[in-house]
Amino acid sequence: MKRITCSGCSLLCDDIIVRTDGLFIDEVIGACLKGKERFDQVTSPNRITNPMIRKNGELVKVTWDEALDYTVNIIKKSLKPLLYGFSNITCEAQYNGIELAKEIDGFIDSNASICQGKVFENLLDIGINLTSLTEILNKADLLILWGANPAETIPRLLNKALFSRGKFRMTGREIKTLIVIDPVKTASFKVMGVRDLALLIEPDKDIDLIRTLKDECCATNAIPEKGVAGIDQDDLKRLLLHLTGAENGVIFIGQALLQPHKNYNLIKELLELLQLINERQSKGRISLILLGGHFNMAGFDHVVLSNYGTYGNLQFEDKKLKNEKITLVNKLKNEEFDCSLIIGTDPISHLPYSLSSRLAKQPIILIDNKKSATYHLAQVVLPTAITGIESSGMAYRLDQVPIELNKIVNPPSNIPSDEELLLQLITKLKSKDEE
Ligand code: SF4
Repeated sequence: MKRITCSGCSLLCDDIIVRTDGLFIDEVIGACLKGKERFDQVTSPNRITNPMIRKNGELVKVTWDEALDYTVNIIKKSLKPLLYGFSNITCEAQYNGIELAKEIDGFIDSNASICQGKVFENLLDIGINLTSLTEILNKADLLILWGANPAETIPRLLNKALFSRGKFRMTGREIKTLIVIDPVKTASFKVMGVRDLALLIEPDKDIDLIRTLKDECCATNAIPEKGVAGIDQDDLKRLLLHLTGAENGVIFIGQALLQPHKNYNLIKELLELLQLINERQSKGRISLILLGGHFNMAGFDHVVLSNYGTYGNLQFEDKKLKNEKITLVNKLKNEEFDCSLIIGTDPISHLPYSLSSRLAKQPIILIDNKKSATYHLAQVVLPTAITGIESSGMAYRLDQVPIELNKIVNPPSNIPSDEELLLQLITKLKSKDEE
C-alpha cells in the first residue's frame, strides 16, 4: 500500500491509498469518481500508447524516430509556431516547454489564459488577497461559491472545506455558512443547509450585484427595495452582513465569473469590492481561491514568473523574450501562427468554433495520453506517461501551494514523460541546427 497524491484535478488530494506491485495498480482507496477515472486512464481504451502520423488522412502508428523527425520538420518549417496547453503537465515539463518555445521563437500560452489567468491580469493594479487550503480547512467560517460548481468539477473540495472541523475549533460544519451565487441551480446547491444562502442570480448580472454591494459599502441604503439581479433586498443585506462579519471568509471564483465582457472588467470590480469589504471588516478578512480545473493550471504562471519575472503568455523572437503581450485569442483570430504544438489539452473541443476551426487549418502536433477531438485532427501524435501515476514532478495546487507528484508504475511501451519528450524535441532541434 502506498499513499500518493491524485492528479485528477487541481485539488491534488494527498490522501489517496493505492495497492500496487509496481507493475499494476490493484486498488485505489479514497479517490472521488473523477480521481478514479484518472487511475483508470492507465488501461483505458482511449489511451494513446504509440506515436502516430497522419498519412492519407489516417493516423498510422510509426516509430519514435520517425515521429520525432516528422515533428521536428514541421517545427523547422514553421515561422510562427504556437504552443498551447501546459496545465496538465508538471512544472518541470512546463519549464522545458518554455525552453522549446524560446528555441523555436514561438508563442507559448497555457489554459490559464482563458481561465484563472484573467484574475492575475488585475494583480498589479489592485492586488489580491489569496488564502491557502490549510487556512480554509482550519479557520474558514464563510464559504462563497461564485460562478463555481466544485461539487462536480473539484469533487472533494466541499468535503474538505465545508465539513472539516479544523485544528483550532471544536465546531465544524455547524459554524460554517455556505453561500452559492450562480444563475444555474448546480449540484453545489444540493449541499446547502438551513442557515446557508442560495442566490440564484440572473444571467450576466454579476456586475450589477458587485456594483450594488460596492455602493452599499460606501453609503448605506444603496440597495434598491426591489433588489438587484434577481436577488431580493433581504438576501442582499444578508450577503453583505456575512461578508463584513465573517472571521475567515473565502470566495471561490469559478469559470462562470471569468467570461469576458465588452464594456466592463468584472474581476477588477470584484477585487475592488473585496478591498472595500476588507476595509469595513471588523473581525477578520475575505480572501479568494481560484478554481482552475486542470491539476497544474496554477503552475505555469509560477514557472513563467520565476524565470521571466512576468506571468501569462510569452512570445520569443531571436531566442529572446519579446516585450509585448498578445493574447491567444488574437493569435488565433488573426491566424498569426503556422503550426501548433498542443500539450495535455483539447482545444478543438474547448475553444469556440470560430477559434478552433482556425487552429485546425494548420498542422497540429499533439502531445497527450488520451484520444480527444484534437487527436482526431492532429497531424502527429506523441503519447506521454500519465503524470502522478507513471511519472513524477511538481505541481501547484489550486491555492498556489507546490506539491510533489510521484511515479508508482512504469508507463506502457516505455512512453516518455512530458518533461522527457519536450527535452528530446529541444535536443533534436539543436542537433538539426548544427548539421
Ligand atoms: S478531488 Fe480531484 S484531486 Fe481529489 S481525488 Fe478527486 S480528482 Fe483527485
